[in-house]
Amino acid sequence: MSKLIDRIEQGLSGLDQHNLRRRRRVTSTPSDAVMTVDGRSMLTFCSNDYLGLSAHPDIRAAFKEGVDLYGAGSGASHLISGHSLAHEQLEQRLAAMQAPYLVQARALYFSTGYMANLAMLSGLAAISLEQTEIFSENLNHASLIDGAKLARSKVKVYPHADVVALEKLLQDSTAENKIVVTDSVFSMDGVIAPLTEILAICERYDAWLVVDDAHGFGVLGATGAGVLEHLKLRSANLVYMGTLGKAAGVSGAFVAAHASVVEWLINRSRPYIYTTASAPALAHALLTSLEIISGAEGAQRRAHLHALTTQFKTAVGTAIAGMSLMESNTQIQPLIVGDNHAALQIAAQLYERGIWVPAIRPPTVPAGTARLRITLSAAHNSAQVTRLLDELSSLQKKVA
Ligand SMILES: *Cc1c(COP(=O)(O)O)cnc(C)c1O
Repeated sequence: MSKLIDRIEQGLSGLDQHNLRRRRRVTSTPSDAVMTVDGRSMLTFCSNDYLGLSAHPDIRAAFKEGVDLYGAGSGASHLISGHSLAHEQLEQRLAAMQAPYLVQARALYFSTGYMANLAMLSGLAAISLEQTEIFSENLNHASLIDGAKLARSKVKVYPHADVVALEKLLQDSTAENKIVVTDSVFSMDGVIAPLTEILAICERYDAWLVVDDAHGFGVLGATGAGVLEHLKLRSANLVYMGTLGKAAGVSGAFVAAHASVVEWLINRSRPYIYTTASAPALAHALLTSLEIISGAEGAQRRAHLHALTTQFKTAVGTAIAGMSLMESNTQIQPLIVGDNHAALQIAAQLYERGIWVPAIRPPTVPAGTARLRITLSAAHNSAQVTRLLDELSSLQKKVA
C-alpha cells in the first residue's frame, strides 16, 4: 500500500489511543426531542435547534413553497445571478431586527456561519492588511480562528473574559484597524461574554467589536434578536454575526453592520463572492422562521426553554454523578468530566439507557476538560428533563 495511506492510518490509530476518534450517528427523523438514531428511538439533548423550529409545520410548508417559487438551487453566486428576491427580503428583515442596536444597519446572508466568519474577518482586514490587528478571545469558535488566519493579519489572543488584558493589548497596539472578536454565548460553556465592558473598551480605542451570536440569536432578547438586544448594546463599532441553522431551525447565517461595512464585504470579501448562493427556498423558509421568532410564539418558546433550563439547573445543583455543572444561565448546560475516556463512557452509559448526549473532547474544548454538552430546547417537555436528571443521578449511585 502507498506510504501516503499508511501515514493517514497511523494518524487515525493515534486518535484511537487518545480516545479522540469521532464517529457519526445516522438520524432518520427530523431534529426533535425524540429522534430515530441508528434505527433506535432516543431522547436527545444534543442539537442546537433551541426553539424546536426545525420541525415546525409552518416553516416546512414555507420551505416547500419556496421550492415552487424559486426552484431547487440558486444557479450562481450572489454577484452573478444567484441573488433572489427571497434572499433580498431575508436580508431586509434581518437588518430591521438588528437596526436598534447598530448604526445604519444592513444585513448580508451567507450559506453557513463558518463562511460568514471567514468572510467577515478577512473582509474587515482587507481594508488594510498591514494596518490590521485582530484581538481574539481564547475560547472562540474554530470558524473565528480560521477567519483570523484567512485575514492574514497579526492576531493576539486574549485570555477568556479578561477585559483588563484586552484593554492592555489595545493600548499597546499601533494598528489603525483594530478588530476585537468574540463569541457571545460560548458554544461549549454556555457562558455569555462581558460584552458591555468589551464594547466600552472598543469604543475607547476605536476598535471594531465583532460578535458571533450563533447561540444567542433567536434565544436571547425579548424579541429573540439576540445578545445585542439582551444586553441593550448599540454602537457603530459593532459587527454582528448570527446563525440561522441553530435556533432559527433552517440553515445559513448573516452579518449585520453599518451599511458601508456590508457594501465593502459584498465587493471585497472572497468567501462571500466566490461561492454559489444557497437555495432561495432556504431564505424563503427563514422569513417564516423569523416571523415566529419575533412574534408571540417565539416569546412562548423562549419562556418554556428558560423554565426547562431553571428546572435542570435547580435539580443538578453544582454537581452530579462526579461531574460538575458549569455556571451557565443559557440553554447550554455542560457537565465537566475532565478525562476523555471517562466522558465517552458516561455518554455511552446514557446512550444505552436511551438518552443521547454528546461527549465533547479536545480540540473542541481545552485538554482535561472533556464534558457532556447538554443542550435544552423548547421542543423538550419537563418530564423529558426529569428523565435525564433521573438517569444522571442513577449513574451517580452506580459510581458511588
Ligand atoms: C455553529 C457555530 C458557527 C458556525 O455556524 P454554521 O452555520 O454551523 O456554519 C460559528 N460560530 C459559532 C460560535 C458556532 O457555534
